[in-house]
Amino acid sequence: MNNRNIPNWLEIEIIKRDNNCVYCGVVFDKNDFKNKATWEHIINDENIINISNIALCCASCNSSKWSKELSEWLKSNYCKKKNITSKSVSDVIKKSLWIKDI
Ligand SMILES: [Zn+2]
Repeated sequence: MNNRNIPNWLEIEIIKRDNNCVYCGVVFDKNDFKNKATWEHIINDENIINISNIALCCASCNSSKWSKELSEWLKSNYCKKKNITSKSVSDVIKKSLWIKDI
């Protein structure tokens, strides 16, 4: 366990899956403040800790999304500027959007 309450095995799975930002697709760069990997709760609920709700996104997307709901955030100027849409995001994000639509 770490201070985000994400178990180590889950962290390892997510790090294996998310090689780049799940939102904008940028390749992570730990030396670049904006492009470094950060932990993201897709649905903004710290109690939902599973492979479908935890992802890695870049610091830039994380600070833009912050506590906004995903579908709302996708309408923001930040997403428009970066061409981030429900179709461009990674599969784990798409799934989260689909589940909400059901
Ligand atoms: Zn990003």
